[in-house]
Amino acid sequence: MTATRISGTAHAESLRAEIGLGVANLKASHGVTPGLAVVLVGEDPASQVYVRNKIKQTEAIGMRSIHHLLPAETSAAELLAVIDQLNTDPTIHGILVQLPLPAHLDPTVVIETIDPAKDVDGFHTHNVGLLWTEGAGFVPCTPLGCLHLLHSVRRDLAGLHAVVVGRSNIVGRPMAALLLNASCTVTIAHSKTQGLPDLCRSADILVAAVGRPQMIQGDWIKPGAIVLDVGINRIQAPNGTTRLVGDVDFEAALAIAGAITPVPGGPGPMTIACLLANTLEAAKRSVSK
Ligand code: NDP
Repeated sequence: MTATRISGTAHAESLRAEIGLGVANLKASHGVTPGLAVVLVGEDPASQVYVRNKIKQTEAIGMRSIHHLLPAETSAAELLAVIDQLNTDPTIHGILVQLPLPAHLDPTVVIETIDPAKDVDGFHTHNVGLLWTEGAGFVPCTPLGCLHLLHSVRRDLAGLHAVVVGRSNIVGRPMAALLLNASCTVTIAHSKTQGLPDLCRSADILVAAVGRPQMIQGDWIKPGAIVLDVGINRIQAPNGTTRLVGDVDFEAALAIAGAITPVPGGPGPMTIACLLANTLEAAKRSVSK
């Protein structure tokens, strides 16, 4: 059996088309253009690429995009002042502070300063609490994208055993909450988990969010399981070229899983599409207040 490949690229494209219609409708009905503000502190090259992509896609969909590119030595007070100003700007509906921040800035303090109604990354504790209590807050974009991809292969997830490998606030924990809310039986694994291969073998849904290239082997996968590979790892071939791989040994898993996301082209493209979806939702909520 060869697994179905779940294309994050294709699903992100159709989600963006849907969001584009929502943006046009909001403009027509309320004269409101959803606005996203992206704040980047420092010159981390990977962050610069992410921010450029976010700005490009925001504008391509008809939203307004503004960005603050701040020097690495920006003080906490200066950064919080920028966020305060964005919190009160009625033309801005979503605020995203690109992580990681330089070491002298505490990400928790920064995230907690964002108005939860504009926290389109879903990292503020207000939104984290809503997610774990099945409330209508903002859900972090990568797990939200994963849920879309899961539903594209299986509508009803109730009763399935989901194993999430990784417990970060950005991916693992919110993913586990979403799966629990979908009535899965959820196990969260991490670096101290014992017997990880057997645990993975018991998963109907396996989400890998570790950051270790091809750690999850083909024979760790239950035949027919749905595998979502969130990991993005750059590895070097013997000839010096580099390529991106996930946390799962994709070729081996393809022969065993029922459905699997590739890397690249899996959850990655869905992440920005879900950021746009959250920004549209924030703008809609602002007009219905
Ligand atoms: P973190 O480093 O924050 O978390 C990694 C998690 O993996 C931790 O919970 C850690 O456990 C766990 N872990 C580490 N080693 C092992 C092991 N040997 N066995 C089991 N668990 C282990 O990473 P993120 O969650 O931020 O990201 C994970 C991956 O997803 C990365 O490759 C990242 O690049 C990618 N990513 C992709 C995104 C996308 O858009 N597709 C978005 C965000 C991330 P412990 O807590 O015990 O340390």
